[in-house]
Amino acid sequence: MEHPAALAGPPVDWAALRRVLVVRPDNLGDVVMAGPAVRALHHAAPHARLDLLAAPAGAAVAPLLPHVDAVLTASVSWQQLDAGAVPPDADLALVRRIAGGRYDAAVVLTSFSQSPWPAAYLCRLAGVPVRVGASKEFGGAGLTHWVPAPPDAIHQVDRMLHVLERVGVPPAGTDLRLNLAASTRPEEPYALLLPGASCASRRYPPGRFARVAELLSEAGLRVVVAGSPREADLGVTATPDVPGLAALVAGSAVVVCNNSGGAHLASALRRPVVVLFAGTEQASQYAPRDTPATILTVPTECAPCRQLRCPYALECLAIPPDDVARAALRLAASG
Ligand code: SF4
Repeated sequence: MEHPAALAGPPVDWAALRRVLVVRPDNLGDVVMAGPAVRALHHAAPHARLDLLAAPAGAAVAPLLPHVDAVLTASVSWQQLDAGAVPPDADLALVRRIAGGRYDAAVVLTSFSQSPWPAAYLCRLAGVPVRVGASKEFGGAGLTHWVPAPPDAIHQVDRMLHVLERVGVPPAGTDLRLNLAASTRPEEPYALLLPGASCASRRYPPGRFARVAELLSEAGLRVVVAGSPREADLGVTATPDVPGLAALVAGSAVVVCNNSGGAHLASALRRPVVVLFAGTEQASQYAPRDTPATILTVPTECAPCRQLRCPYALECLAIPPDDVARAALRLAASG
């Protein structure tokens, strides 16, 4: 039985709304995976302007996300590991920015391990009358439409769609999409290696990535290693911005990456992908579903661990480079 306060708010007339704020202040991949939820909102509220509250990392991909009209970029306090990283004044400033948007509704999208309550409460202070989110815990008046959380293991895309469905917004497809100017595939195919990830525990060791690159080159496939300037120590040779990275993904024969934004870009752009999946999370929550994908991992007792740094020896990513190269060549050939 559900809590008596669950979904206690009145039905929302989505078609009548004019301004909706979607809250997803997380990484690039999380914003890409929010795309089907944004699309569902666009269909249910066709007259509404849809704004996205995003963190800097996620905001970088927002221009490619269909149906997003504007982005509020903020490093929000409730996503910081360091409790002192964002001063209280920044919360108050964010309340004022949200209030300035005069939103009719806010939809707070979260992963299984995040809470919607801080964002919901700021939106309440900003005067947003309808506030939707999912949580295991009861949090009172922060949300006007509190959706009991679905099971942790479901895919992030389905989790976000579930929240909306419970408040009268039906899904409009589950596939990821990005707006990217049409590009022709290069004559010489290449494998795109993306060795970066938001935390160390999700990174396949650089030395093994380098060996994968050698094996692919020996097999006759050109290799491009891309990432951010911060990832130069991972052997990155190309440092494009996010639209440039998306174009590199779109032109590739196969992508090899960690459980990171690159996997979701590949899924959204329908390029085959090998994901070196650390045991930090469950693959059922994050696996690419819209493109041929090979997930490589080593099962361990400690998974899923949710660690930012592995306290052991990263046994879950002890995948032989030969296996990675073989999987990549198989996918590239089939594509
Ligand atoms: S080896 Fe275990 S603790 Fe270390 S990252 Fe992998 S799953 Fe987490």
